[in-house]
Amino acid sequence: MDNVSSNMGFSKRKGARIIMNDFEKLQEEFNDKINKLRETCPHTFVSEWIEEYWAIGHSTGYMIRTCNNCCKIIDRKTSCWRCHKEVLEKDHLDGDGIKTPLGTWYCSEKCKKEDEKTMGL
Ligand SMILES: [Zn+2]
Ligand SMILES: [Zn+2]
Repeated sequence: MDNVSSNMGFSKRKGARIIMNDFEKLQEEFNDKINKLRETCPHTFVSEWIEEYWAIGHSTGYMIRTCNNCCKIIDRKTSCWRCHKEVLEKDHLDGDGIKTPLGTWYCSEKCKKEDEKTMGL
């Protein structure tokens, strides 16, 4: 085994790697435990709404609430592009990329239709 690959516990020359190294094993163990925690957690204490970022300074356009115990995202919401009413992720309608741009969200079919008219895509 050469120096580069020996610390990862595998040799690159062997091609596809099947055996996980210790780091990956720990990572999987960790993820399993987090998933189990999130499945069983009653999410009793939920945070205030905070802005969600996909990178520093880049908002996703969503607000989120997370569980203070397991850190799971409990709710995501955004606001309607037409009337600015807040709308939960599960309830909003997406822009279809045909009549309305992708990455726009509407609270109702009515708002979406109204935007379709004014955008004239
Ligand atoms: Zn929880
Ligand atoms: Zn609306």
